Amino acid sequence: MIDLRSDTVTMPGPAMRRAMAAAVVGDDVYGEDPTVNALEEMGAGLLGMEAALFLPSGTQANLTALLTHCRRGEEYIAGQGAHLYRFEGGGGAAFGGIQPQPLEFDTDGTIDLAKAAVAVKEEDPHFPRTRLFCLENTVGGRALPLPYLPRAVEFARSRNLSLHLDGARIWNAAAACGLSPARLTEGFDSVSACLSKGLGAPAGTLLCGSRPFIAEARRWRKALGGGMRQAGVLAAAGIVALEENLERLTEDHEKAAVLAQGLRRIEELAPLVDGSHTNMVFLRLPDGAGHAMADYLAPMGIRVSGRGGVRLVTHLDVSLEDMERVTAAVASFVREDRGSLQRPK
Ligand SMILES: *Cc1c(COP(=O)(O)O)cnc(C)c1O
Repeated sequence: MIDLRSDTVTMPGPAMRRAMAAAVVGDDVYGEDPTVNALEEMGAGLLGMEAALFLPSGTQANLTALLTHCRRGEEYIAGQGAHLYRFEGGGGAAFGGIQPQPLEFDTDGTIDLAKAAVAVKEEDPHFPRTRLFCLENTVGGRALPLPYLPRAVEFARSRNLSLHLDGARIWNAAAACGLSPARLTEGFDSVSACLSKGLGAPAGTLLCGSRPFIAEARRWRKALGGGMRQAGVLAAAGIVALEENLERLTEDHEKAAVLAQGLRRIEELAPLVDGSHTNMVFLRLPDGAGHAMADYLAPMGIRVSGRGGVRLVTHLDVSLEDMERVTAAVASFVREDRGSLQRPK
């Protein structure tokens, strides 16, 4: 099976499972799990923040960040396609009474700061109070352009907004830029960073920020039901993920680059390949062709996500050789099924 639907599908390897079995644990709600504490300290250090909190998922980490930054009736600005706005079940509204102010992403995943400035409401009882500006990195598989980051920080400061980074794949962004993750989080008030995507842990996200921010976030995590007890068995996997799997993310990026290159050699497909942003390749296919391709590949043991176009995500459980098999299988789909690619987009 070559599963390219997401980098969340990886299985914990033997070293990770050994570390989980051997983890020294305690009750983390009392702050007494030494493995969780070690992971939080390690994550905060890597991300250049004062403190960190271990949560079961990225969704809960982003929701905890929203609840910690904003009160009921306040709003946050985020991309129209941002995960925390679009793909997290409306949690901020459902549980916090927090209103989103979505703005279109530019093609590079940035939010135009002039448009954001217009969206910030002035102090007036008619308006919600704009409290928070949210960015995502990587966004759609791309690292945010480096020169944008200090401009965004300056914008947020000048408007008195807090700044949150959904850094589920911040590790991939850092690897792509050849910089430490901490360089990409400078000036942000909070950052969420996933351990169970490219890094291969079975669960867990770190939310980082100042000590007072994390103390408050700890309260919200408890209220949301995210206070886990002997969570060190999971945190141990997170530590192995950070120790063993950070460096090798560039290998995933190489696999994606090779895959994109292979797919571009298929003539009919070449103009539709949007590829080699970190570990993702997108095929901008006409309606319906994504599902057709996914259905065609499935019996060949290749799984891809066919919602909209096709998204192919590389990770530690697929190899460089697998990319050749996928390219060949896609080529035979294109040969046999020209019709669906030629439908107007
Ligand atoms: C996956 C993801 C999340 C949420 O993580 P879960 O652990 O699946 O809840 C948040 N933001 C981005 C950008 C993601 O890709």
